[in-house]
Amino acid sequence: MIVDERFATYINSLENGNKEYLDELEVYAKKTDVPIIRKEMQSLLKTLLVMSKPRQILEVGTAIGFSALLMAEAAPLAQITTIEKYEKRIPLAKANFEKYGKSEQITLLEGDATEILARLTGTYDFIFMDAAKGQYINFLPDVLRLLSEGGVLVSDNILQDGDIIESRFAITKRNRTIHARMREYLYTLKHHEQLETSILPLGDGVALSVKK
Ligand code: SAH
Ligand code: MG
Repeated sequence: MIVDERFATYINSLENGNKEYLDELEVYAKKTDVPIIRKEMQSLLKTLLVMSKPRQILEVGTAIGFSALLMAEAAPLAQITTIEKYEKRIPLAKANFEKYGKSEQITLLEGDATEILARLTGTYDFIFMDAAKGQYINFLPDVLRLLSEGGVLVSDNILQDGDIIESRFAITKRNRTIHARMREYLYTLKHHEQLETSILPLGDGVALSVKK
């Protein structure tokens, strides 16, 4: 938790909730240890989607489809493409898109995002990055190629549970590579001439970028 838990609890207590099936899916995900976006990120995504009214959304990291479904509800006119590589989660995500009547609106691309992003063409006006943190920096060139002018890039989990501010020597060896890559990613987002980026200590940390 990077924000005082009492602030997060208070802010989340103001939420007026999602559709019932999303709440059920959220409970299911927590019970089965599937990582899904936190309440704070849910609220931010909904606000950004209503604000930017995207027509084409790209998500990297589907898991079982919770955030894709949440975005489908918040942006009913958008087409959503979402990428997932984990075989165990793919059938669950697909079943959820069917079950909740969103399989026309949401397309699941199966496989490693590194390869899939490289093959994708067209443009997206909203991209949600929520996959393996250590890979964001590798995905970035393709993500920027696919992002339209004025398009929004939202990157989740960028403060690495607070580790990001620590020196690399204070980080467990296991997390050092991710630490270095995430710092490089944030530096690049902030210094890239095509981007305007704001880093928000919300949830597990969010980078909000707009392509100029
Ligand atoms: N956005 C989802 C949660 C995604 S969790 C939600 O909030 O509902 C992150 C997911 O990214 C995991 O399911 C993981 O399997 C997937 N992932 C990680 N690295 C990936 C890669 N290189 N290509 C495709 N999927 C990846
Ligand atoms: Mg996440």
